[in-house]
Amino acid sequence: MAENKRDYYEVLGVSRDASPEEIKKAYRKLARQYHPDVNKAPDAEQKFKEIREAYEVLSDPEKRARYDRYGHEDPAAGFGGAGGFTGADFGDFGGFGEIFDMFFGAGPRRDPNAPQRGEDLRYTLTVEFKEAVFGKETEITVPRTETCDVCHGSGARPGTRPETCGVCRGTGQQETVQHTPFGRIVNRRICPACGGRGRIVRDRCASCGGSGRVRRQRRIQVKIPAGVDDGSQLRIPGEGEAGLRGGPPGDLYIIIRVKPHDFFEREGDDIYCEVPLTFVQAALGDEIEVPTLTGKVRLRIPPGTQSGTYFRLKGKGVPRLRGYGAGDQHVRVTVVTPTNLTEHQKELLREFAKTLGEETHDKQRSLFERMRRAIMGE
Ligand SMILES: [Zn+2]
Ligand SMILES: [Zn+2]
Repeated sequence: MAENKRDYYEVLGVSRDASPEEIKKAYRKLARQYHPDVNKAPDAEQKFKEIREAYEVLSDPEKRARYDRYGHEDPAAGFGGAGGFTGADFGDFGGFGEIFDMFFGAGPRRDPNAPQRGEDLRYTLTVEFKEAVFGKETEITVPRTETCDVCHGSGARPGTRPETCGVCRGTGQQETVQHTPFGRIVNRRICPACGGRGRIVRDRCASCGGSGRVRRQRRIQVKIPAGVDDGSQLRIPGEGEAGLRGGPPGDLYIIIRVKPHDFFEREGDDIYCEVPLTFVQAALGDEIEVPTLTGKVRLRIPPGTQSGTYFRLKGKGVPRLRGYGAGDQHVRVTVVTPTNLTEHQKELLREFAKTLGEETHDKQRSLFERMRRAIMGE
């Protein structure tokens, strides 16, 4: 189960920031290589299932985001677990249609002239630590394809129309049928004459060169909600690549990267920081000023505070992305041993040490006691 599963990115051999296109490409290559009808190795089927499962998750931006966050231990959904994966069953040949879908983006009965939804886009946005905490409105420039507004996506020069492809008669596909001991295998390939579009543009639109889409730098307003964390994803519906033949556009996914802060560290909604104390402050107690995300606050240090003690500032953490309230700030105090003491100061400390004995602190005493026993080999 989960503990034996390989990392999905590793399965597909892609990096964690691979684009949807890279993932699709890697999947297609591996799927061809390990398809059980092609590859007769005993572990090919297992391997193929693993590849499909990885692709199922990584090709879906929402599942991928969850996987990036939780790995195989997603508490909400068992998409990686048994039953979560509904892949093709290789006992029957019903799986073939699905395989072809994957390879060509078109099923056997698919009309090549049907509208097709545009691809989703990913955009990585790096923000400052405090921008992630408090949110931010910003404008980003996203390179994407848009429907050509001269030909409205047809690719034909205004006033002309594309012709139906004579080679595939408008289906966009060529079929060859092969009879094998396993049954009939239909090979479909994209029509080489029209590139799968089913239509041929004789008189091309000058603006898009006949593709019906143009590449644009699109400026998009983005509102980053307060409390986003490194790796958070925002979905902006309809701001992805243009659809084809009147299909809807894809979505834009913005992946948030948060720059580290000099002083604050973040873990979920909680903030951690480290504050120095002189050993006099630690021994006698004091009231110190501690920076928080919303300005400084006063923190009372009780007498006899040990180095490494944590103090909690309730509600001084990061606003919760969902729901109300905020996390806490945890302040770790570190007692700084003085250096460069003057001769007078050293003398005072020696005098002080004489008065100290080993009875000044319970914890200290037991530490000394344990150390002495260790020295004596007990
Ligand atoms: Zn055009
Ligand atoms: Zn054709």
